[in-house]
Amino acid sequence: MEFIESWAEIGLLYLNNTRHFINDQCSGREAWEIILATVLLINICHWLYQQVFLHELSVFERMKLSFFKILRRLPVIGRKIQEELEKTKSAITKDMFPLPQGDIYNTHLPEQGIPKDELLNLVTTKYKSMEKIDWQGGRLSGAVYNCGAEHESLMERIYGIFVGDNLLHPDVFPGTRKMEAEVVAMCCNFFHGGPEACGTMTSGGTESILMACKAYREHAYKRGIKYPEILAPCSGHAAFAKAAKYFKMRYVETPIDPTTKLINIPAMKRKISKNTCMLVVSAPSFPYGVVEQVEEVGKLGKHYNIPVHVDACMGGFIIPFAKRAGINLPPMDFRVEGVTSISADAHKYGLAPKGNSIVVYKNPEYRMGQFYINTDWCGGIYASPAVGGTRSGAVIATCWATMMYVGADGYQENAVKIIKTREYVEDCVRNIPGLTVQGKPDVNILSISSDTFDIYRLGAALTNKGWHMFTVQYPAGVNFCVTKMHTLPGVAEGFVKDLEECTADIMKDPNAKADGIAAIYGMAESIPDRSMVAEFVQGYLEAYYSTKL
Ligand SMILES: *Cc1c(COP(=O)(O)O)cnc(C)c1O
Repeated sequence: MEFIESWAEIGLLYLNNTRHFINDQCSGREAWEIILATVLLINICHWLYQQVFLHELSVFERMKLSFFKILRRLPVIGRKIQEELEKTKSAITKDMFPLPQGDIYNTHLPEQGIPKDELLNLVTTKYKSMEKIDWQGGRLSGAVYNCGAEHESLMERIYGIFVGDNLLHPDVFPGTRKMEAEVVAMCCNFFHGGPEACGTMTSGGTESILMACKAYREHAYKRGIKYPEILAPCSGHAAFAKAAKYFKMRYVETPIDPTTKLINIPAMKRKISKNTCMLVVSAPSFPYGVVEQVEEVGKLGKHYNIPVHVDACMGGFIIPFAKRAGINLPPMDFRVEGVTSISADAHKYGLAPKGNSIVVYKNPEYRMGQFYINTDWCGGIYASPAVGGTRSGAVIATCWATMMYVGADGYQENAVKIIKTREYVEDCVRNIPGLTVQGKPDVNILSISSDTFDIYRLGAALTNKGWHMFTVQYPAGVNFCVTKMHTLPGVAEGFVKDLEECTADIMKDPNAKADGIAAIYGMAESIPDRSMVAEFVQGYLEAYYSTKL
């Protein structure tokens, strides 16, 4: 081996060997044969590359799917699985949305319209009265964020004033146009956007996220990326995966720390590829209520020149105002280098009626990507800023009016109360034997789990006491999202009392099996074939629209 002096020589040797090998293979062949073989080889390589790297799902995920598909086609096992599936599916969908005794569905237009008083009577006695969960009394986790007769009647009046406004025609409705522009500007300012900061309103957090993803997809296309990837921690909201599905992007998930529930930054860095079109970070995350590392993700974005979206759908109307009150929370707005957009739900802690959210960008270049413009339609030159065409000016007016009515002081007061209430409940949970809190919550959400018993049993026990919670999976948990109702005197205390009683009851027999809906959640979490779980869920969505008795 003395005559091999360097790696370069070894390389040359291999190159020469390869050259001889190829020449030998080709010797005696006709030119057309060589050309054909080359074309075929290139095509096969290209196809393999596409299958491995440019598919929505990874190779492993696709192998798993195929495996279960085959399993379900096997003669005996397949039929058995299908039978079990149908049984569970009908158990889930039956009684999903029960009607009161004797009630029926209206499935045809009434021949003559119903008179006003009769209609109002119908609405209150037959529809509004169907609600069983005392959400006004605060028995609900999240979902309804504002309360109070005074605010409600103000909203009714504002909505009434602008009830006809259609913002597809802002020239006709300049007042609500001005309101929308002002809402966006106010958000840009409390997120400390520069003079270039801009945005739009949308119908909700999901639409805000969809729009940011679309904007970054267009941005990536411009830079020559053909198959843009969204890189998000597994704690990111499902709306990002939904955006990937809608917009033909690839969704790349990166792990979080199992204890702190914060993003594993080195892992995120490793998953950045030349196709990554955006990084996602939440403030706070939906499953754990932890404000993630906006500064560190911002640094990655800046270093690799990739836009960073901060999902502040939950925290957008809390964190800036809690900070104003001197509560120490991690930075999450445009002052953090690398942050290029933020989503914030006005219909959550913005305290506005449903159908109001905001997405803001560092500059108009990013926002441009979310706009839709059609110059050639025979229906006229058409342009819309977000998903909707016709948009209600009345809904936007209620958002504007809420923000003006509550004001920075009001949001600050609300933010402090929400955080203090979460702290109080958190301290209590940490002192209840059998319960643990996932990660270290920062804002409004508290994820409760247990090392001792099946936590879904707690969810079910709380349901029996009239509480309505969120359930989360991987790991299993029951989430409490503090709203304004829980900050009213006695409400959080009542929750803690019920929590203590339910837990003490379960702890008498911690190993008992769950039943009912708790068992279904547990089963759904443990089924490896997710396409089966999807079938159950499909049953749920179908039941939603069912008018069969
Ligand atoms: C609520 C929420 C969303 C989605 O908002 P919708 O208004 O339900 O569409 C997205 N991200 C986070 C963190 C949220 O809390």
